[in-house]
Amino acid sequence: MQSVIPRLALLAAAMAAVGSAGAHWLGNDAGFALACGVALAVTAFDTLARARLLEWLRLPQRDTVPQSFGAWGEVFYRSARQLRMWQGRVQREEGKLSRFIEALQASPNGVMLIDAQGQIDWCNATAAGHFGLDVQRDLRQHAVHLIRNPEFVAYLAAHQFKEPLLMRRNGPLGALLLSVQVIAYGDDDKLLLSRDVTQFERTEAMRRDFVANVSHEIKTPLTVIAGFIESMRTLDLAADERERILALMQQQSDRMRHLVDDLLTLAHLEGDPHQPLEELLDMPSMVARLANDARALSAGRHRIEAQADVSRLRGASVELASAFSNLVSNAVRYTPAGGVVQIRWRVLDSGLGDALGEFSVSDNGIGIAAEHIPRLTERFYRVDRGRSRESGGTGLGLAIVKHSLLRHQAELRIVSELGKGSTFSARFPAQRLLLPQPEPTQSPVGLG
Ligand code: ADP
Repeated sequence: MQSVIPRLALLAAAMAAVGSAGAHWLGNDAGFALACGVALAVTAFDTLARARLLEWLRLPQRDTVPQSFGAWGEVFYRSARQLRMWQGRVQREEGKLSRFIEALQASPNGVMLIDAQGQIDWCNATAAGHFGLDVQRDLRQHAVHLIRNPEFVAYLAAHQFKEPLLMRRNGPLGALLLSVQVIAYGDDDKLLLSRDVTQFERTEAMRRDFVANVSHEIKTPLTVIAGFIESMRTLDLAADERERILALMQQQSDRMRHLVDDLLTLAHLEGDPHQPLEELLDMPSMVARLANDARALSAGRHRIEAQADVSRLRGASVELASAFSNLVSNAVRYTPAGGVVQIRWRVLDSGLGDALGEFSVSDNGIGIAAEHIPRLTERFYRVDRGRSRESGGTGLGLAIVKHSLLRHQAELRIVSELGKGSTFSARFPAQRLLLPQPEPTQSPVGLG
């Protein structure tokens, strides 16, 4: 670029020389010829400078700014400065835009921009996942051509976006429930926000079921008690009949108390954010106590066997005793008379170089069909509702077991065969065990 300037000066001088030579030949005066030469030189200089400016403006780069002097030098300098300012501004705006896009990408919600023609302008990865779109391939496609769900198509067409739309979709990971909210902006453009509410809906359904179940469980004994009260009021009952009715009322109120106790235990286990107490439970004594309770509950109808390895378990005694006693009482309640219930505590090799503690209750009772096993720890899930109620069950026992074991990092295993019996075992990790110290080996005693 620099080499052009001397060339221009040369060109101007040549033009001046040509002008003066022409003046000499044609007889005009030398001053006029010189002026013509200078004018020609200046015009040539301007033309060249303009051409360089235009050429540079076609692809303006900071490091190829043309150099010149005088007015053109000023033009080049100011253009270059303007360019630098613009480039800086564009860079800052680009930075802002990419941070904005990063924020939208990081959003846990799906975000989609739809233009006035209904074409997808942009969407983040979450929205693409929600609607099964390809972020690159599907841009500029009509949203309703790709999201064909009839409710969605109708929602978009109706232009009534006050309430969100709940729509179901089958994703690669199973059925999804999406909450879709459209916000109109600009010139009939739309911002679409989508949220996966599958889990929320599931939790809500569980809460509704739970409330319905509790109400039902409480209502049944209350209805029975109300009926008895009515009978006692209106009928002239013989003393033994009154006694019988009072005993039945007592039974129903016990049932309600048992249910409320179980609900409170469960609420405490589920809602307590603190670690369980770190008491040391002597397991042989615990197993012996459980076996006694089982014998009392069985009232001689079953053979109860108990066995425990000497060791202690670290945990909250109330929570663990409640979990273990639920397993034991289930075994007795779901095993017909004449059956055997075995209560065991064993220290086993985990296979990973340390020990594990296993509390198990086995019975040879009615057993459970395989399809019920995964659902047994759900609140109020019963295989046979009538049998559970008859034997005083609340349907909350195994939910209590699950939560109290979870709080102790223990795992519940259920092995059962219909008509043959069941084994429920709780496996505790090594850090919850306190094993007896091995006897110190006797050092040889001198013979004197
Ligand atoms: P429930 O109060 O009804 O016994 P649980 O939560 O303790 O409630 O148990 C849930 C269901 O699991 C019971 O209703 C019963 O159908 C089944 N169940 C639990 N333990 C046993 C068992 N040892 N043998 C057979 N079925 C069992």
